[in-house]
This record gives sequence, C-alpha cells and structure tokens, in this order.
Amino acid sequence: MTLDEARARDAADPLRPLRDRFVLPDGVIYLDGNSLGPLPRATLAANRDLVERQWGERLIRSWDEGWMGSPARIGGKIAPWIGADADEVIVTDSTSANLFKLIVAALRRDPARTVVISETGNFPTDLHIAEGAVACVPGGTLRAVPRDALADAIDDRTALVLLSHVHYKTSARFDMAAWTRRAHDAGALILWDLSHSVGAIPVDLNGAGADMAVGCGYKFLNGGPGAPAFLYVAERHQAQLANPISGWMGHARPFAFTDAYEAGAGMERWRAGTPPMLAMAALEAGLDAIADVPIEALATKSAALFDAFAAAGDAIGLKCIAPRDPAERGSHIAFRHPHACAIMAALVERGVIGDFRDPDILRFGLTPLYVGFEDVARAALALAEIVADHRGVAPPGPIA
Ligand SMILES: *Cc1c(COP(=O)(O)O)cnc(C)c1O
Repeated sequence: MTLDEARARDAADPLRPLRDRFVLPDGVIYLDGNSLGPLPRATLAANRDLVERQWGERLIRSWDEGWMGSPARIGGKIAPWIGADADEVIVTDSTSANLFKLIVAALRRDPARTVVISETGNFPTDLHIAEGAVACVPGGTLRAVPRDALADAIDDRTALVLLSHVHYKTSARFDMAAWTRRAHDAGALILWDLSHSVGAIPVDLNGAGADMAVGCGYKFLNGGPGAPAFLYVAERHQAQLANPISGWMGHARPFAFTDAYEAGAGMERWRAGTPPMLAMAALEAGLDAIADVPIEALATKSAALFDAFAAAGDAIGLKCIAPRDPAERGSHIAFRHPHACAIMAALVERGVIGDFRDPDILRFGLTPLYVGFEDVARAALALAEIVADHRGVAPPGPIA
C-alpha cells in the first residue's frame, strides 16, 4: 500500500470523521490504544463539569443527583458492547479486584468443586489474582495449563474456567461460545476477561451463555488512565453469588447504617466502597463518545487495517504471531523480532507509538476509531527502515 493508496482509502472510509472526537497530538501515530485509549474531546468538558459544577457547586447533593447511581448507569452503557443486558453489568473497582471477587464467589458456590483452570501465559494479573483468590477458599487450587491442554484439564472438580477472550500478546481469540459450552458440559462456570476485546470486536456474552466477565475501562473504551473496570454476572446467577468484598456500597440499604451485611439486589452487591467520581465521569464520557458507533463497522475496518499492516510486515520479513483470520483474533497485531525492544524504542523516537512486550514482541493496536490507513502505511515505512538498520546485528544475549 503506497501512501497515495492509503490516503485514498482514508478518504473513502465512513469511520474517518470519528478521529475528530479524540485529542491526538501532532507528529504522533498512536498505535497503543489497547494499553491506554486516547483522550476523547468530550471528556475535557465532562470532567470540567464534574469538578466545577457537580463537586464545586452541588457538593454532597451530587450523590443523590447522579453519583450514587453511576456504577449501574455506566454499566448499562457498557452492556451493548458485550452482549449483556443493562442490569447485568456494573462499573466498580479495577479489573484485578473484580477478578478476585468473582473467582472467590465461584469457588464458594459449590464446595465439591475446588479447582480454577486457566491458561499459562494468561495476562499476569489474572494468574496472580487467581493464585491469591484460591488461597482464600479451603481446598482451592489454581491449575494453569497451556492452551492445547485446557480442554482435558476441565473436569468435575472444576469450579471455574478463567480465560482472557483475546490474548494480550498474540491477539489470539478464544471461541467464546465453544469454550463456554466446554465449561458447562463439565458443570463448571466460566469467567471471561474482556480487557482486550471490549470496544474492539463484537462480544456476545449472553449469546454464548457465559456466566461471568470482567473488563477494562482505559483500553478500547478510552476511559482514562486507571479508569474503573466493569463486572458482568448473568442474570440467572445474580441471586446466588456473593461478593467476598462485602462493603457498604454493595449493601441492600447502605444508609440504614446497620451492623450486619445484607447483599444488595442484582449487580449492586458487587460494589464495595465509594465510587471514584472523577474517574467515573471520564469513563462515562469515553463511552458516550462512541455510543453511536456500530461495533461491526469497527471490526471490519480493524480487519482491513490489520491486513494492510500484515502485508507490510510480510514484505520486510517480520514474523506475525497474530492469527490471520479476523474471527480468530482481536484488533491488535503482533510481530516477533529478536531486537523488538530496540526497534520499538526507535519507532517511539520517530513518533510511532506501539509497545514492546517481553521478550521479543512488537505490538501495535489498530483502533479504527482514530487510526487510519495512512497511519498504518507511515508506521510500516518507519518499521521497515528501522528493521533494516538491525539486519545483520547479533541479537542481544542474556545479561550475565
Ligand atoms: C489490561 C488488563 C488487565 C488490567 O487489570 P488492572 O486491574 O486494570 O490493572 C487485566 N486483565 C487483562 C487481560 C488485561 O489486558
């Protein structure tokens, strides 16, 4: 794809105007929205209103004027992106904390089932949290196995299968419906981490019959650094599962100030403490900024950007480790190169921001909301020049 061809494709792209909804610094090609989504323009005004009017003028009255209901309200805005009903999603805490809550709840559901199954090489916090969560439940154990051993590892002792829908390094995607069925056939629950799928590819939790899910607010949802995360529990499980972080905000009547805990209705029980309203407002503004964008259009453009980048990668002999079939991946592309770390540093120096993932992975988010074909073409040109500079250079050895 030449630069002229890329410009022609941008001119014909119906999603092109969406780019103006984001603050994108001059001289930067941003291919890292899968780690930190950029600032939506509307967030500036929304956070100004939160600070100046809601906090500054309305003071504590704002809790009754919208703040208290914000976890459920914003959850309802995430629901259409993940194939959930509005009353199945709540925004609270971090993805890590939500994983903990759901893993413990799943283990306590049936004492005869004590094992959590996950994948080796899953996102680190998922495994770390699972390790901590199983230690909180008598008999609880974590068994992490390679992807090709997962199916055999799930059995009648499995309480929970914990999987990341799209892999943060390789972009490989699990077939959500098939793996949900596999877990259910063994009588286990399944918990999907949607951090690298929500807002990037179509997700249909209810269509797949999924039980639980968590996901991140600051990646493809553009909710700002450290944005609150979300948590989904299928309606049929909501009355049975208990939040081990039984805080007052999840109480049925927080302002009755009782000594004894009584779980709130529906998803309210998954709240713990007071919501961080500055961050909640930014996440809500990020969601409002893309509420009218159809996910299918995003996925189609993302696949086209991927194909353009993959072709450029092939031309310079880079090894693409992301699946070529769009149905089998998320929306980022990843290459393997022994000099990945130095190559990414040189790219960032030239204003092409992707990221390096240990030990040898170059990762580029191709977020169709604001990334265009010219961006991809320019990034690929810079990548080709930098890779050529590293040709014939011995790979870095281990540091003694
Ligand atoms: C980004 C990401 C997280 C982040 O968890 P935090 O608690 O927000 O730090 C968790 N899981 C996956 C799969 C991720 O990609």
